[in-house]
Amino acid sequence: MNTFVSKFGGTSLASSKEIRHVEQIASKLERRFVVVSAPGKRFGNDEKITDLLIECFDRASKRLDFSKPFNKIKERYIEIATDLGVNVNLDAEFGAIKMNLNFDPNYDYILSRGEYLSAIIIAKFLHRKFIDPSQFMIMSNGGRVNLKQSKILFDKLVSDDGYYVIAGFYGRTKKGEIKTFSRGGSDITGAVVANLASAQKYENFTDVDGVFDADPNFTKLAKKIDIMTYDEMYKMAKSGAKVLHPDCIKYLRSKNIALNIRNTFNLVDFGTLVVGENYIKKLEKKG
Ligand code: ADP
Ligand code: ASP
Ligand code: MG
Repeated sequence: MNTFVSKFGGTSLASSKEIRHVEQIASKLERRFVVVSAPGKRFGNDEKITDLLIECFDRASKRLDFSKPFNKIKERYIEIATDLGVNVNLDAEFGAIKMNLNFDPNYDYILSRGEYLSAIIIAKFLHRKFIDPSQFMIMSNGGRVNLKQSKILFDKLVSDDGYYVIAGFYGRTKKGEIKTFSRGGSDITGAVVANLASAQKYENFTDVDGVFDADPNFTKLAKKIDIMTYDEMYKMAKSGAKVLHPDCIKYLRSKNIALNIRNTFNLVDFGTLVVGENYIKKLEKKG
């Protein structure tokens, strides 16, 4: 059987309503690895959990009261867990986060908690095993992934017939400190997992129908691209198309893993397929 890695972005996990779409998508047998972001915006002027966590860190590190953003975060997770009927000890989880903020605020640790809490709740909801990426994702202080070391740890954690939910956006240094990628970095987690699992496909589920020639939320004239090469995708991402983090591409290209960017809320659209040059040449030959 094929193995797919399916990453869901913040808008796809903004509340229980969106997470129920994810449940339906994750039920396909090939989708053995689900990678999740922190909850994003539910509506136009809503706040992303990661931004609220940054606010908590900024305030705590200046010894200012952080209870307002902290309580907003807590309430959102309580609402999600309650709506989904999932039993997680959120008081204990938030107690540990508060302790860090009060006594020794650590930026990467605090930021990573958005994805961590998302993943423990969604893993329970989907009846899948939760994997904390700090158990296998080994990163340098500069944020580079050590694939060799990560692969050894990953293989010890997963079995051929297992189904998993993995928190995006972070790993750990060799010393054991939590390390986050740059913003939008859950995309990278998905690509690294696809590489380590030698997946056939990396599905990146987001809130638009795929990659367009311009941001579709800015111009109605934007046209969707059905198929493109890794190079083309990399250049677009590098020049600011935030639909994908550019650092994903190297992990996919080296194992020729097809990337499919598609819309969680519009499954009839196949999205954009990103593949190697050779694949496209073969298609062109076939006509
Ligand atoms: P996610 O939370 O799923 O990771 P992001 O917000 O990071 O989603 O990326 C999706 C957003 O990227 C879209 O809502 C869209 O506004 C924006 N975007 C910018 N450029 C492009 C582009 N060329 N094609 C598609 N989406 C784009
Ligand atoms: N939650 C993180 C961010 O907002 C990572 C991600 O969504 O990919 O940047
Ligand atoms: Mg993103």
